[in-house]
Amino acid sequence: MKKIIITLDGYSSCGKSTLARQLARELNYVFIDSGAMYRAITLYFLRQHVDWNNKTEIHKALGEITLDFQFNELTGQADMYLNDENVEALIRDMLVSEHVSEVSAKEEVRSFGVAQQQKMGEKKGIVMDGRDIGTTVFPDAELKIFVTADPAVRVERRFKELYEKNPSITIEEVKSNLEMRDYLDSNREVSPLRMAEDAIVLDNTSMTREEQLQIALGWAKEKMK
Ligand code: C5P
Repeated sequence: MKKIIITLDGYSSCGKSTLARQLARELNYVFIDSGAMYRAITLYFLRQHVDWNNKTEIHKALGEITLDFQFNELTGQADMYLNDENVEALIRDMLVSEHVSEVSAKEEVRSFGVAQQQKMGEKKGIVMDGRDIGTTVFPDAELKIFVTADPAVRVERRFKELYEKNPSITIEEVKSNLEMRDYLDSNREVSPLRMAEDAIVLDNTSMTREEQLQIALGWAKEKMK
């Protein structure tokens, strides 16, 4: 079977990362959560008080950042490292979620992210999820999936996930953050969230994780022949 590139794009909290991780595990492929990279950059900018409306400051800050993924034996998943610090939990904070779409819309930030992501896919055998993976990062990917789910279901799923770590969070906060990110991600000038013309839609509103995995696996195996 040949090695391919699989991309998963879509709106916030529609289960892209969960599906991408499961697919990678089944196929023995590398899984890359590109959103984690933009979140780590945002965390760095917030900590260092970088003015992301100033190109010189962005340029300097990006030069100080090293991103990599390291396998965590306890969780069986790869964690995001920012300058050798495990920031996997910190990047999921609401503060980062509130600013990540603004930061990731900057041209310099996108070039920085895209170049690293393309390098990770050089040998193929990769599943990457994000917003512009099938359109900008890997326009020639063999399998492109556009994941979607009913907005109310997406809010509910995200709320449950965040509530476990922070019981003071409200459903309104989660809803407005998802709406804001979807709006900014779809309307930015550079690499907006779009469905690639050759992508297949997977609406998982009323599917279990196992059901969506089996569908995507079928598509992948077809492309790997
Ligand atoms: O996937 P996740 O929701 O963690 O992504 C966080 C944010 O990172 C998105 O809302 C978007 O602003 C940005 N992002 C992006 N391009 C990607 C992946 C994520 O702009 N490929």
